[in-house]
Amino acid sequence: TWTPHSLEMIHGDPIRTLGVIGGGAMGAGIAQAAAIRGYGVHVKEVDADAASQCSARIDRLIDDYGRHKKLDADQLRQLRDRIDVGTDFSALEDADCIVEAVVERMGVKQSVLAEAEKAASKSAILATNTSSLSVTEMAGSLSRPAHFAGLHFFNPVHRMELVEVVRGDETSDATIAQLVSFVRALGKTPIVTTDSPGFLVNRILFPYLGEAIMMVREGQSIAAIDREMREFGMPMGPLQLLDHVGLDVALHVARSLGAVMRDVDDVIEVLSPLARRNQIGLKSKRGFYDYH
Ligand code: NAD
Repeated sequence: TWTPHSLEMIHGDPIRTLGVIGGGAMGAGIAQAAAIRGYGVHVKEVDADAASQCSARIDRLIDDYGRHKKLDADQLRQLRDRIDVGTDFSALEDADCIVEAVVERMGVKQSVLAEAEKAASKSAILATNTSSLSVTEMAGSLSRPAHFAGLHFFNPVHRMELVEVVRGDETSDATIAQLVSFVRALGKTPIVTTDSPGFLVNRILFPYLGEAIMMVREGQSIAAIDREMREFGMPMGPLQLLDHVGLDVALHVARSLGAVMRDVDDVIEVLSPLARRNQIGLKSKRGFYDYH
């Protein structure tokens, strides 16, 4: 059963140092968001190559932020120095909260979370940025599941205000309280949701996106659907939004919504061949639109 929790004014122990596992699009964004608010951040990547790509990604994000805020070189360096990127779990030992943002695969996530739990202090909170996997099932690899929850940021992290704090079956109230306070301290808006397919936002958003995909399949024009929804008042059209989200990410979310979304098999049938040929939206320069 699905029952949204109302946003509660609850407080927990403060988080001062953040660990992030996986510094891709989301992990780098989360690291930057925390550094801007004064947190020390340790990012753990899978190998040296991925770590240097992650450092470059964080540099770009911080440079963009610096230009936007007119920061001088010293301020930029201070900000950048708050984040270190490495490949060892041991760097996470002083983190009060560790957010996992690796590939969307249950086995990989369970294994990095179990490693992180071993490296972390006993009081540390662990969280997953998954958009489509069960938080409760993921907790199966942990010995302190009460300290674990979902912390679902949206893409791009620096622009998206809402963060879903997802309560797994065994998540404690104290863990939820700490994560809610942390999200507020990042200057973002937390909502607490239960661990159910799509959590709150994707459960509501994806049927809308799915209908747009079905209309394309029926032969309607991509540009016309997007234009009409923008005229209705949406900041971007549904197919444009899918290209931003990434059709690979959308496919993962669609697969998780089988129990609650109409036409989900047809939506998967449209997205699968596109994802197979790496036509996955903005990041591959081709999705519903061509960005070359
Ligand atoms: P990404 O592919 O950009 O980044 C994943 C990163 O994890 C890569 O840098 C990779 O090197 C690293 N990684 C892989 N295995 C690792 C391991 N064992 N240890 C350490 N690092 C490892 O992916 P992303 O888009 O940032 O997504 C990350 C997570 O966030 C996924 O769970 C995804 O579902 C979720 N998410 C994505 C979006 C989105 O729109 N992209 C939005 C919300 C949530």
